[in-house]
Amino acid sequence: MTSRAATEATLLSVAVPSPLRHTFDYLPGDDTPDGGWTTGVRVRVPFGRRSVVGVVVALDPPSALPRERLKPIEALIDRSPLPADWLWLCRFAARYYQHSLGDTLAGAMPAPLRQGRPLEARTRTRWRITEAGHTPGEQLGRAPRQAELLAAIAQHPRGMVTSAITAMSFSHSQLRALHDRGLIECCEENIAAPEQGAGGHSLAEPSLPLNREQSAALSALHEDLERFQASLLHGVTGSGKTEIYLQLIEAVLDRGRQALVLVPEIGLTPQTLARFRKRFNAPVLALHSGLSDGERLDSWEAARAGRAAVIIGTRSAVFTPLARPGVIIVDEEHDGSFKQQDSLRYHARDLAVARAHYHGIPVLLGSATPSLESLARARSGHYRHLRLTRRAGDAQPAAMSLVDLRGRPQRGGLGPQALTAIGEHLGTGRQVLVFVDRRGFAPTLACHQCGWLAECRHCDARLTLHRDPYRLICHHCEQSAPVPAACPQCESGDLRPLGAGTERTEEALSEAFDDTPIVRIDRDSTRRRDAFEQQLAEIRRGEPCLLVGTRMLAKGHHFPHVTLVVVVNADGGLYGADFRSLEHSAQLLTQVAGRAGRAQHAGRVLIQTLHPQDPALLTLVEQGYDALAEQLLEERRIAGLPPFRFVALLRGESSRKEAVSDLFERAAGTLRQWLGERGLAVQCLGPVPAPMERRHNRYHVQLLLIAEQRSALHEAAAWLDEWLAGQRDARRLRYSIDIDPQEM
Ligand code: ADP
Ligand code: ZN
Ligand code: ZN
Repeated sequence: MTSRAATEATLLSVAVPSPLRHTFDYLPGDDTPDGGWTTGVRVRVPFGRRSVVGVVVALDPPSALPRERLKPIEALIDRSPLPADWLWLCRFAARYYQHSLGDTLAGAMPAPLRQGRPLEARTRTRWRITEAGHTPGEQLGRAPRQAELLAAIAQHPRGMVTSAITAMSFSHSQLRALHDRGLIECCEENIAAPEQGAGGHSLAEPSLPLNREQSAALSALHEDLERFQASLLHGVTGSGKTEIYLQLIEAVLDRGRQALVLVPEIGLTPQTLARFRKRFNAPVLALHSGLSDGERLDSWEAARAGRAAVIIGTRSAVFTPLARPGVIIVDEEHDGSFKQQDSLRYHARDLAVARAHYHGIPVLLGSATPSLESLARARSGHYRHLRLTRRAGDAQPAAMSLVDLRGRPQRGGLGPQALTAIGEHLGTGRQVLVFVDRRGFAPTLACHQCGWLAECRHCDARLTLHRDPYRLICHHCEQSAPVPAACPQCESGDLRPLGAGTERTEEALSEAFDDTPIVRIDRDSTRRRDAFEQQLAEIRRGEPCLLVGTRMLAKGHHFPHVTLVVVVNADGGLYGADFRSLEHSAQLLTQVAGRAGRAQHAGRVLIQTLHPQDPALLTLVEQGYDALAEQLLEERRIAGLPPFRFVALLRGESSRKEAVSDLFERAAGTLRQWLGERGLAVQCLGPVPAPMERRHNRYHVQLLLIAEQRSALHEAAAWLDEWLAGQRDARRLRYSIDIDPQEM
């Protein structure tokens, strides 16, 4: 890295952690960073009555306030700036998602940095003479110490580090003066930079010989290791996508570069990590929610200094600074967990693509069920479309079929056909996975006499019946109530659980197959951190067993001994209010189905439904996800919805319904008028109540913006944001703007 323009700044623009969209001006103190003021250094500043940690984001901005009214900073925290790539990404994200830059920066830092802890000096500044420095002329006639310093530095062609210079009793200000005259330059170097790239990375374990499709994909990826190119690796479950990631990373490491791999929350198990660690003779770093603040900071440092070769992490890992970025990989790119649903509402996949573009490196998005967004970009040629249509090795694809549940007796949500099939598979010593998309015993409790349903008093939602503890619990606000002995409406004692959750299915299975062990996996059964891993280990031992679980089971795990997958009810997502519910439900069903028959045994998938004629379900079962995705894309195009349009969603909530709907009515009216005057092609729909209007006694209202041009959408969203900031009543309620919302 070369030196940045050193400045004797007279005014600093500082981003402080606050929801306010603008930055604040401060006067610099006596202390100056090495090499002069620059953007990206942390400072402690007075803010209101508090003292906060902010980041300098501009020097000498035109200030609205006279200098006398400005306060000086309290302290300089960093001698050298935070990483430039990290700073760039934060700025980009704040702008794109219409979020405060100060909050974005604070949120993207490891907690100790946010609290102002100094970044340990793992890098140091080295000073070198410049071309001009060889012929200083008369410049230093009146500054003999500077002339001496220049002469000293000139004797070291590789440059001198700051500590060596101060040890010779030269001062920081003498260094800065030479730097300002352009006679010397500075650069940052890592103290503990590994000898990466020198000998290349020998593999710890040989890579697998690729099949024809895999080879074709990998050689296409090899063509573009040195420039930005986004590729969609679209390959059925078990087609060997991970093997391609590993071999691509191998090529990147051989070039002395780093790889950043993003995985969904649940996919980051020791299993995934072990596969990467086993393959490479290089430091593989995992960033996950189990890390302490200190560990997180260490990882951040190791990545930024280049000591970590491969960094694997969930959503927030996209903000990891990299010394020598070589590739970014997003596994299961369709996964909803990549979108942050509060504060900075970023999508890690989209930021990964933006970041790769900034670095000029390739980005690889992998999935068996790509999002319609990525598929559309692959179809339009923006992304390279790499296909893997067959399972790797000799694994057989699973055969899917629909099971009509209408009029059939059920036990724990399972019809006779499913129970028979389960018995058969267990009988041949195999494992069976039963997927239930609801934890608890039953989705609700109903009165068989009058039709009363147990509802949450605080939400527009039913209460879920749980066995352990035996209570009715709201999955939206976590409030719970005792299970009534009689109907609160008609006093009948005939209350029955309605539908099946994992606990009920588990109970029915344990009655039907009482000598088979059952492993239940859902949020309740895995509350302890290591419980999930223990359960997975049990399953991998391969003894016949029944797995009952929610979508926690659907992601990324290999269950080589499972030969039958039963989906208890496929209907939940078919008729959802959200325009994406069908896409998401098809992805989930396909991912669940992909758990069957991964090893040498062919798998079967039974999907129970009350709508066996549903055209979308039929397409999915008969022709697969890709065919359904094509149909959905066509429907989206006709309806004018993403990915063919861009949307932003304004969400607001208040304990008083009118408070938020009145404000949003005014917002919509004013916005429409402004759009008309500006001639901006942005549709403004609403306000309307959110799909679940009342949640935890707060009313949720939303306003949708749709545009054909992203720039128009952003302009409108920014205008709306500013208008709201100026409204007195807006301060009394919570609202947010979600760019590219995933749920609406
Ligand atoms: P995906 O990530 O697409 O689900 P994986 O990379 O996990 O697929 O591969 C699925 C299984 O196939 C793994 O057990 C893997 O070791 C194996 N596999 C992958 N590529 C090959 C190959 N070329 N030859 C033999 N087995 C392979
Ligand atoms: Zn009743
Ligand atoms: Zn509730």
